[in-house]
Amino acid sequence: MIIERAMNKAIDLPGADLQKKVDLLLQQQTREWDLAHKNYMGLQKVRKRSFKLHDRVNIGVQFNPERMTSSAAKVDPKSISERKCFLCAANLPQQQKWVEFGDDYLVLVNPFPIFPRHLTIPHREHIDQRIKGRFGDMLNLARELEDFVVFYNGPQCGASAPDHFHFQAGNKGFMPVEKDFENMSRVTIKGEECCRVSVFKDYLRHCIILDGSSKTILTAWFEQAYMGMEGQMTAENPEPMMNILVSWEKGRWKVFIFPRKKHRPWQFFEEGEKQILLSPASVDLGGMLITPREEDFEKLGVSDIVDIFGQITWKDEDFEKLIRLFKT
Ligand SMILES: [Zn+2]
Repeated sequence: MIIERAMNKAIDLPGADLQKKVDLLLQQQTREWDLAHKNYMGLQKVRKRSFKLHDRVNIGVQFNPERMTSSAAKVDPKSISERKCFLCAANLPQQQKWVEFGDDYLVLVNPFPIFPRHLTIPHREHIDQRIKGRFGDMLNLARELEDFVVFYNGPQCGASAPDHFHFQAGNKGFMPVEKDFENMSRVTIKGEECCRVSVFKDYLRHCIILDGSSKTILTAWFEQAYMGMEGQMTAENPEPMMNILVSWEKGRWKVFIFPRKKHRPWQFFEEGEKQILLSPASVDLGGMLITPREEDFEKLGVSDIVDIFGQITWKDEDFEKLIRLFKT
């Protein structure tokens, strides 16, 4: 029996696990919520390109005009304080429903999807986007949502609501990084079969990979990485800049941490010919670049991709210093 509570906003399926409840939520919302219905139908028609860089690194590009609001979102404190928060439950559209995750989170269908199944998972309270102390929640969420990759965009690395804590999740099998983990060579930095820290070789953007079955060990390693990244912070950064992806399969987590040094590349701020409206966040770092303008989708080339990754992620020498922390 399906139960709807709290002014018909919360969908529950007593006894079912989170994944089943979310399946139901997605079915209901893409059928009955006009905006979600329109945009998920529209997603079937989006155009895609794919590249193989340096004969090894797989990168996809998706032309998705509905993402313009998010890509071009103003995230400076003034603009944020002047708008109504779109993740606070009181401000959600009338047709939007949710599933509860634990005491602290609501699982929502993202009405402007990149993935065929795309969720936004805000905290119940209007609190700042900070990962410190919440990485364990991210692991728990990924374990409960086995069909999804859960991701976190730092407040200055793609979160369009830096004032309201949230994760997102997209169905597995969409971002190239998932296959790259299986197919590309990696160097183990620390650990063994139970839990490991590794890195990709020549991947265009540096990434710390944690994989393993122990929440305690992975959390400790995440905190170690966080502390190592703090050295790169400037006065304007509320936390080390990063994007994180987490998934769960066969009793193990896979965590991809992409340290960032810049939110948007210079091309974003150009005008005319030189402009490329690409605002990289977790999905882009995961290997699927999202372009809301068709002209950018058409013209984006290998050299632009290499250049943009180079601008927004860490230099070799800085990343090597970070990795050295795991070797001590
Ligand atoms: Zn809010």
